[in-house]
Amino acid sequence: MSSLRLAAATAAALGFAMSAAAQPNFDEIEISSVDLGDGLHMLVGAGGNIGLLVGADGVLMVDDQFAPLSDKIAAKIEELAGTGGVRFVLNTHHHGDHNGGNENFVARGATVVAHENVRTRLMSPSTSPTGAVNPPRPPDAWPVVTFADSVTFHMNGQTVHAIHVANAHTDGDTIVRFEEADVIHMGDTLNWNSYPRIDGNANGSLAGFINAAETALAHADADTRIIPGHGSTAPLGTADLAAYRDMLVAARDLLAPAAANPEAVDEVVAADPLASLNSRWGGGSVTPEAFVRSVVAPPP
Ligand SMILES: [Zn+2]
Ligand SMILES: [Zn+2]
Repeated sequence: MSSLRLAAATAAALGFAMSAAAQPNFDEIEISSVDLGDGLHMLVGAGGNIGLLVGADGVLMVDDQFAPLSDKIAAKIEELAGTGGVRFVLNTHHHGDHNGGNENFVARGATVVAHENVRTRLMSPSTSPTGAVNPPRPPDAWPVVTFADSVTFHMNGQTVHAIHVANAHTDGDTIVRFEEADVIHMGDTLNWNSYPRIDGNANGSLAGFINAAETALAHADADTRIIPGHGSTAPLGTADLAAYRDMLVAARDLLAPAAANPEAVDEVVAADPLASLNSRWGGGSVTPEAFVRSVVAPPP
């Protein structure tokens, strides 16, 4: 891996937690793609991984990364679909590394669809888990079609189920199941090789993360491909998602005694209750300490 690709991969892994100063050099980011068959592709650049469905009925895109990458993403779509236009953009949640390009794709004719809480959060200032306050997004970035529980697209031979999973990474998360292609896009309810990023300022929770993984696993079989929000440039398998779910459950059980006493969070962190999990999961973008604090002492 060249230093450039390493930098891009690191930036992608950091995702929305990046400060402006730490954002990638977008001029150097390249958009790569993995062909999943049936008109479905996984696009990787910087920010959340994109799911792209192309065909005669038009283009459906799950997430659109950062605004400065929109022209490159559109060029990749043109290469794969024969058109740079997008019919639908589906946002998995409100963080800007997944929907920063909304207004740019609206300008290219797209209709933005998302859970109703995504629209509410994009219309208001929001506080990231790192404490950064983001201003409201411009009206063109706001979803114009919203749903409370689920919505289904019927395009290009695919039945595409957008399923809301409550209070996981945020309170607006959607996982997307491409039924015939047997692919599930997890958004940021799955950041591979990392502890979960629980956005407590947006009502995220560990219980919700576990529910999101269980919901996806209920629709998965041995051949299902899983697209994570971050942490892998290729799709994962059902066994990977099950391992992630097992980590979440183990962490919940290890932290349960401490979660009843948030005032003692400093002592809990010092006791390193996740020591048995850290070698596998603690080296990612969410440190063991950050994860413990997000579970034991979430924002009020
Ligand atoms: Zn993200
Ligand atoms: Zn996110």
